[in-house]
Amino acid sequence: MPRQRLDKGLVQVYTGNSKGKTTAALGQSLRAIGHGFYVCFIQFLKGGAYTGELFASQRLYPNFVFRQYGITCPYSTIIRQGEEKCHGCGECFPSKDKDSTEHERLTRMGFQAAQEAVSSGEYDLVVLDEINQAIHLGFLNTEEVVAMLDKKLPFVEVILTGRNAHPEVLERADLVTEMTPRKHPFQKGTASRRGIEY
Ligand code: ATP
Ligand code: MG
Repeated sequence: MPRQRLDKGLVQVYTGNSKGKTTAALGQSLRAIGHGFYVCFIQFLKGGAYTGELFASQRLYPNFVFRQYGITCPYSTIIRQGEEKCHGCGECFPSKDKDSTEHERLTRMGFQAAQEAVSSGEYDLVVLDEINQAIHLGFLNTEEVVAMLDKKLPFVEVILTGRNAHPEVLERADLVTEMTPRKHPFQKGTASRRGIEY
């Protein structure tokens, strides 16, 4: 049987300041995989090698390929083993006070992978997790990201996630969903939970 394709691949954006962007993209991936499609999930800025989605993706390979282009958490191993929790130390995140050269280099590698994934024909859904934030931090230009979307194969669906989505990305998108915070357990001091927040 010939490999199935989407009739028309669109561009989706999940942005906003509340929880649900990455998990919505994972839910969308699961749905596509269920129908035999191939998904490439590219995660920018985050290298938490202990997240549940990273392990789940390995069970779904080759329909689900998961790649990370962030700086690895120094406590990944013990967090993965459940002996410690993510305390939000921020070691893995870029910030204005820290040298961001390495984050930028990894982001550029991720972008190269993204360009290949949307135009190789290997994948039906390409998720660019946290790419909005990578643009916001100045690691990628909006123009090059929009150019990538314009060059994607017509049957490829692309999802761009992350806070602070650029207006030109929103303009290019066919679907935009904004996660609005109403309540978050972090406000009451609840720490990140294994299996829920990571
Ligand atoms: P998730 O991966 O759970 O779908 P997300 O991708 O929407 O979350 P990110 O911006 O990537 O959220 O943030 C990563 C982490 O920060 C998640 O664990 C999420 O629960 C948490 N978070 C999201 N929104 C808020 C908020 N408004 N206040 C505090 N923490 C938040
Ligand atoms: Mg996220």
